[in-house]
Amino acid sequence: MTVLVTGGAGYIGSVTVERLRAKGEQVVVLDNLSRGHRSAVDESVPFYEGSIGDSALVREIAKRHNIEACIHFAAFAYVGESVTEPAAYFENNTAQTARLLDALIAADVRNIVFSSTCATYGEPQNVPIDETHSQKPTNPYGWSKFFTERILEAYDKAYNLRFVALRYFNAAGATETRGELHEPETHLIPNVLNAAAGKLPFVSVFGSDYPTSDGTCIRDYIHVSDLGDAHIRALEYLRKGGESTFINLGNGQGYSVLEVIETARKVTGKQIEMRLEPQRGGDPSKLVANAAKASKILGWQPQHPDLETIIRSAWQWHTANSK
Ligand code: UDP
Repeated sequence: MTVLVTGGAGYIGSVTVERLRAKGEQVVVLDNLSRGHRSAVDESVPFYEGSIGDSALVREIAKRHNIEACIHFAAFAYVGESVTEPAAYFENNTAQTARLLDALIAADVRNIVFSSTCATYGEPQNVPIDETHSQKPTNPYGWSKFFTERILEAYDKAYNLRFVALRYFNAAGATETRGELHEPETHLIPNVLNAAAGKLPFVSVFGSDYPTSDGTCIRDYIHVSDLGDAHIRALEYLRKGGESTFINLGNGQGYSVLEVIETARKVTGKQIEMRLEPQRGGDPSKLVANAAKASKILGWQPQHPDLETIIRSAWQWHTANSK
């Protein structure tokens, strides 16, 4: 019994692969390395460099490794890029995911843990956001994941597929061996740390006129190792026959961009210059999770909820691994 992890060479995927293996699970990774890093997956893990949309390859992997379930991370995940290149997002995140699911079903693999996102909610009507909140994404990234959620629902009804769609808030932090390394880097915490390390002259603050306490966007930062843990719990839930469902993953605590920068100054002891800039397209002002369902259904509780701990883990990884 083996778990296929797509996007296992990426940030959250590689952390989850590590945790699965630590639990004694058999794992196979499929990743096209367009955004991930081969070095993020241990050499001993069977690794296929290829596309999730390559049906023949997916069927072959499923047969060869007796795949029982799939944790599907592989996706593009830059809000800003999705605004300028929506076609790539709908193709990669939605159309190719449908191909992946078709191939998995053809191979009789019906348990799916899916990386969804709080970006499917859009501008919140009320905060914290629970899973019943309306979904009206403000950017193509959010829509690309929203449509995939609808595909999963339809496949559940028609083809007996079972899924847990995990709607992450803002993944952050690092484990001792795995951290966040995007090329190009657009995420806030890595950029703040790049500025702390002197690799950027300053960090841009995108928008200081939002309707929030200090005018900058508020996000719920969740430690990547807590996210990895939730995926394993979701897998166990499906194995026990759990029904398809949507679950938020967040800490329930929001921090503004300025608060993140201030905390990073404290953690790193560096000045960290910043520059106020116009809003970046597609950013909702405030995204904070109500994660009660994750606790109730999966028994999940974040182990590293504190922003300072999250940023410290990212800084340790950054100083040890960045060139
Ligand atoms: N942000 C910023 N400067 C940066 C990167 C991000 O001000 O260099 C802001 C961004 O506009 C958003 C928040 O920080 O309001 C979190 O952005 P990130 O890209 O990390 O995650 P997202 O919420 O877009 O998934």
